[in-house]
Parts: sequence; structure tokens; C-alpha cells
Amino acid sequence: HVDRDATIQAARLKLPILAEEQQIMETIAENQIVIIAGETGSGKTTQVPQFLYEAGYAQNKLIGITEPRRVAAISMSKRVAEEMNLSEREVSYLIRFEGNVTEDTKIKFMTDGVLLKEIESDFLLNRYSVVILDEAHERSVYTDILIGLLSRIVPLRHKKGNPLKLIVMSATLRVEDFTGNAKLFKIPPPVLKVEARQYPVTIHFQKHTVEDYVKEAYRKTVKIHSKLPEGGVLIFVTGQQEVNYLVRKLRKAFPYKESLNSRKTEPTQSKATTTAEDKDDDEFDMKRAIKNVKRSKKKLASQVILPKINLDSYKLPSEDTDADLLENDDCRLEESDLENDDDDLTMETEQRTKQPLWVLPLYSLLSSEKQRRVFAPPPEGCRLCVVSTNVAETSLTIPNIKYVVDSGRQKTRLYDKVTGVSAFVVTFTSKASADQRAGRAGRVSAGHCYRLYSSAVFNDEFEPFAVPDIQKKPVDDLMLQMKCMGIDKVINFPFPSPPDFTQLEVAEKRLKMLGALEDCKTKESGGQVISKVTPLGHAISAFPVSPRFGKMLALSHQQNLLPYTVCMVAALSVQEVLLEVSLNDENDANRSQSSKWSSKRRTWAGSGNYQLLGDPMVLLRAVGAAEFAGSQGKLEQFCEENGLRMKAISEIRKLRVQLTNEINLNIPDVNLSVDPKMEPPTDLQAKFLRQILLSGMGDQVARKIPDDELKDKEDKRKFKHAYQCSEMEDPVLAHSASVLKKKQPDWVVYQEIYQLENGDTKKMFMRGITAIEPEWLLT
Ligand code: ADP
Ligand code: MG
Repeated sequence: HVDRDATIQAARLKLPILAEEQQIMETIAENQIVIIAGETGSGKTTQVPQFLYEAGYAQNKLIGITEPRRVAAISMSKRVAEEMNLSEREVSYLIRFEGNVTEDTKIKFMTDGVLLKEIESDFLLNRYSVVILDEAHERSVYTDILIGLLSRIVPLRHKKGNPLKLIVMSATLRVEDFTGNAKLFKIPPPVLKVEARQYPVTIHFQKHTVEDYVKEAYRKTVKIHSKLPEGGVLIFVTGQQEVNYLVRKLRKAFPYKESLNSRKTEPTQSKATTTAEDKDDDEFDMKRAIKNVKRSKKKLASQVILPKINLDSYKLPSEDTDADLLENDDCRLEESDLENDDDDLTMETEQRTKQPLWVLPLYSLLSSEKQRRVFAPPPEGCRLCVVSTNVAETSLTIPNIKYVVDSGRQKTRLYDKVTGVSAFVVTFTSKASADQRAGRAGRVSAGHCYRLYSSAVFNDEFEPFAVPDIQKKPVDDLMLQMKCMGIDKVINFPFPSPPDFTQLEVAEKRLKMLGALEDCKTKESGGQVISKVTPLGHAISAFPVSPRFGKMLALSHQQNLLPYTVCMVAALSVQEVLLEVSLNDENDANRSQSSKWSSKRRTWAGSGNYQLLGDPMVLLRAVGAAEFAGSQGKLEQFCEENGLRMKAISEIRKLRVQLTNEINLNIPDVNLSVDPKMEPPTDLQAKFLRQILLSGMGDQVARKIPDDELKDKEDKRKFKHAYQCSEMEDPVLAHSASVLKKKQPDWVVYQEIYQLENGDTKKMFMRGITAIEPEWLLT
């Protein structure tokens, strides 16, 4: 029996889903798997767990609900506890680093990642009587994998006479990926549709799509608040920093009198972005670190030990959900860029109302008390204005919104197909998302949605639906992630939307080579060989780059190598950092410039281990020197004089900042920063870096063909100065731009091979060469 408060009961009765309770519960009783699709705000998340509780599903076992976002898990558990008059001991939540689950817990909200982890230790989820996968339309990788796993777990539990119910809940009505996929569900599960009361929303497109949507969102909100009748405003932007910026601006424009109060609630800026301003502290650390390395170098030399990266020494990762990272990371928006706009933005002052605006931020990483304020009514005489990332699109329904201001943008993580390096970019949302956002304005009465883009852009450039995350990510990464979750036969897995299968096979092979997976025969596999994740594999999976580079980073916390590896990975990921030298140019001036550039590169390459680190060393020094010149305001001149592509330098910098932020988020206590005055590595560190490169590029090794192996004249002509690569018949030459071209080391690793056709002759060249020692290959 549930004893609800009268006002809560009245609010519940207004929710469309309450009228469907009987039908929903009957369908669940008769079926193992049920899909519930219903408009956002119809009451799915808050009410279905209560229906199940009242029907007795929590008597002996748990009712579990997964959310792709942490915000939703926390906030919904609190709301349901409140509605049911139960304590947080009984209606609880669990997210990766935090939770309030007890042995009395009956209803458990959690992130999808948490339930996946539980499956690793309790494959049949025996503690649950029912699992609800909420927000399935978001198509997060974890929820997709959970659907696949549960499609098998549910029949198994049924067979064992210990049934488990699965309920998949989705906001939009695009459920064909779940129902029309025979590999997933042999018999398509029934779909229950909950219609929500929806008032008409008038859509207003902008004549032209504005680039600076943050500024435009501010303008639009000022106008709405000054000119339009009462009703809450909801603004959609892409990330935490944009949210905080707009909140500050709007509070300044329409201050709320009890300033003490609003002071206290002022959001603090994210500290995640590491900028040049932090450098003082780091410089100190850096020098100390370098001293330490020098000291250890002396020690090593006296003991005559070959320095060697310990392949068993790496940091273990923590876990963060992708949606949270997307909202947190925001290197795109520089605070200073926006502060300059002040004049521009105050021009409409005269027409402004004096009515205060109650402006609240909403994003994933906001503390839960602050998040909850969006549900409370604003103070007397204020209009509510919530500035949100896309968590307010479907996860949280904010009451009394009449106006939506939609930037039409979202932050997405895009992956480079070659390097696997990911970058956050702002893109247009899908049409489905835009309609969801607009729908937020029509819940209490007729509303308005102001789209900060043109209808032509909406029609031509917005995709109908977002592509599922699982099809956007590189499969090396996905394969490793699934193996980390204990899913052994990834290739047979019933994905709702499968990734490419040959790609999966290639990925598995590459991961074995890297030591992230290893073959083993286990009892469970019936003596069959399957590959499993190694501890190193777990560490690699923490980095937001391809496993190749992930391994290099995972091994780099030793010997203070991380800043260098981050810089190297970033530099190797950007094309054409160094401009081509053309020493045969007819033009004297060009030739003399080219020779200046190439002699500079030889200086950068230096001698000893610097020189042996080869082309990556040149990149490292070039980036370091360019950043230093930049900190003195001389970047352009420096790039011109030394043959660097200036845009490449700024791309590398962005990548370094981003990688650094993510490493700091993923691995506690590393406190990494991007230092424009990074000193070059020591000779010993350079040697370690050569080994680090080899550890990530073990399948890209080449051996120089010795002269005495060349038999006849033909051979001598063809193979002179040539290298032999594994898995390749034809000889390969060092690219003429390589600083190791002259030195011709016996063994090398390379970044890339490319082919040049000249009439009949084809020649292959290695680019990005580093010398290695043959004895390193033996272990
Ligand atoms: P759905 O999952 O179908 O999108 P929800 O169950 O999340 O719908 O929301 C149902 C209603 O409950 C909405 O009107 C929402 O505003 C309200 N609600 C949710 N959380 C709170 C809260 N913490 N305080 C007040 N109302 C809330
Ligand atoms: Mg919901």
C-alpha cells in the first residue's frame, strides 16, 4: 500500500500515463518484454516504477530502472521517493561514484553503465524482478548493449522458473530498431503508446541561421521577457560553459532583488579546461620532474641497465558516461570571446522590463540540489528561465514552460577514422530532437518555439534522426569496451543496430597485437579459444583515442612522459604540420628557404636519442618551439620562418587541451596540464618515448635490408637503402623528408606507408620514422 500526499496525488492524476495503468500492467503480466513509447512528460519515468511497486514486483526482488544520464537517475529517484512517501533507503539511486542504495532498497535508479557492470558479476541479474531501460531512444552505447544482453537474459530467467520482466521505454515513436530486428527479439514485443496532452506550439524560424547562437539566444530571451506574456522560458545550448555564461548574462540583465540569495546560487565555472594561465604552477612541477628524471638517469647509467618502459606499469581507469563528458568538456567557448560583446548586447536596454528573471542553469554535472530547483516555482513576481543542455530535451520535464529558445545545436563526439582521435564538435541536432525541444513549450498551454536557424537549414541539413552512438564510434574502441564488460563473442552479439562485422574482426586482431586482449581457453567457452581483456586493456580503454594511442598514453605516466606523449599523439594526429621542403626548386629563393627549414629540422632532431626518436621528435620540438613563440606573440612569424603550418599548430593545441582534460577526468591525481613552455624531453625520456612509440605501433615495424642479402645487380638496384615491412612483399623506402633518411637505422617503426606511382614504377615510402633497437622486439 502506498500512502501519497493529496497534492501529489492530484498532480499524478493529471498525467496521461495514469489512465493507462491497467492496460500497461496487464500487458506486463502477460509478456516477458514490453515496449512503452510515450511523449516526454507523460509520466513514464516517475509512474511506471510506482505501478510495478503497487503490483507487488518489489516484494522479494528489486525494481531496476536505468538512465543514460546521471542527472536523471538521481533526480528521478528523489522524485519517486517523494511521490510515494518512501525514504531514500527504499527508493534509491546508484551512479558510478555515488549512491544511496541500502538493503531496504525496493526501487533502484541507476545509470546504464552501472547495470552493465552488475551483469559482469551477476549475469542473470537475479536480484531483479523487473528491469526498465529508460530513454532507449537516446541510443547510448550502454543502453543498446543492455537491450542485446537482456534479450537473452529474459528467456533464460523464464526457463529457470524465475522470471524477469523487461520494459523498454522510449520518448519518440521510432521503435522499429527494437521491434523489427529478429536477431534481437524473435517475437516482436508489444508496443504500448501513451499519448500525451499536447497544446499547439508555434514554431518561429530565424530568417538566417546565426553562427553565434549563444548571443542570439540571449537577445531572443531579452525580447521574450520584455515583450511577451507570462510563462517560463527554456533555452537549449550545447554545454556547461555556454549555460553558465548565459545564466550570468541574463541575471545581470534582469537582476533578482534578493541578491544575497542569488549570489549563493551562482554557478561556479568548470575547472576542467586547462589554459595557459595555469602554467606557473606546472612549470615548477615540470622542473622538479625533469630533475628527478636526471637523477634517475645518473643512477641508471651507473648501474648500466638498459632503460626500459615497464609494460606492466599503467594507471587503471575510472569511468564517466559519454553524455556527461559531452556536457562538461567545452574548449570551444572562450570566456573572453563573449565578454567583448557587452556593448552589442546592451543596446536594447531602453525597452527592457524591470521584472526580475529567475534564471537557473541545468546540466548533467550540476549538483542535484541545484538541479532540483528547476522544478520549484520561481519567487513571487519572477519569470522562470532555465538554461539547459539537452538534458531537458527528454530526460527532465520542467514545469510551466511556454517559450523554448532552441539553438538547434548539440555537442557531439566525432572520431577520426584513421587515428581514432575523438573531438568534440558542435553540430546541428536531428529533426526529431528539434521537435522534442519544441514540444517542451506545449505542456501547460499553447506555446512558442524560437529556432535560431532558418527553415531551409532545418529542412536540408538536419538529419531525420540521430545515428545511434554504436554506429558512430570506431569499432576498436567498442570491441575493447564490450570485452571490458565481459562480452566475449562480440561478433555474435544481438545489437539493435549492428556495427560493421569485418571491422569487428580486424579490431580484435589489432587489440591482441597491442596486448589489450589475449586468447584463452576457459571452461565456460567449452575449451574454445576466446579473447579476453588484459589489465592493460582496461587501462587503454580509459583514453579517448584509438587503442593504439591509448596504449602509448597508458604507459606514459612513468618517468613524467605523459605531457610529451599527449603532445606527440596530438601532433601525429594532425596532417601536414611541417611544410614540404623542395630542395630541387628552380627558384633560388624557394630553394634557400627550403634548405633553411630542413637544417632547422635537423637541429631539432639533434643527436643521440633525440635523433633516434626521429620524425616524432622533430614534431615535438616544432610544436614546443611554436607554442613558446606563441606565448611571446610571435607565432605567425615563427611558423613562416620555420616552415610550419600555422593552422596545424592551433589544431594540435586544441587536441592537447582536450586530451589533457579527459585524462584529468579519467585518471584521478595526474593533474596534467598543457604547458606552452614545455621543455624538451631529456635524452633518457626520448629513449623511453621511442619504446612507447614501439609499444603502440608494434605492427608497423620495418627492417633495413642488409647489403649482403642482395644477390644480383637487379636486387641491388631495387633494394638499396630499402626496408622490409612485415606482411608486405615490396621494399619500402624512407621518405625524403624524414630526418632519419640519411642515417638509415637498421630497425624502425613508422606512422604510415604510402604509395607513389610514376609511370610504370610504383614506390612505397614510410613516413614518420623512429629508430628502435632490435632487442626491444624480443619481449
Ligand atoms: P516522462 O518520463 O514520460 O518524460 P516523467 O515521469 O519524467 O515523464 O515526468 C512526469 C511529470 O513529473 C512531469 O510533469 C514532471 O515535470 C514531473 N516531475 C518530475 N520530477 C519532478 C520533481 N522533482 N518535482 C516536481 N515535478 C517533477
Ligand atoms: Mg522519462
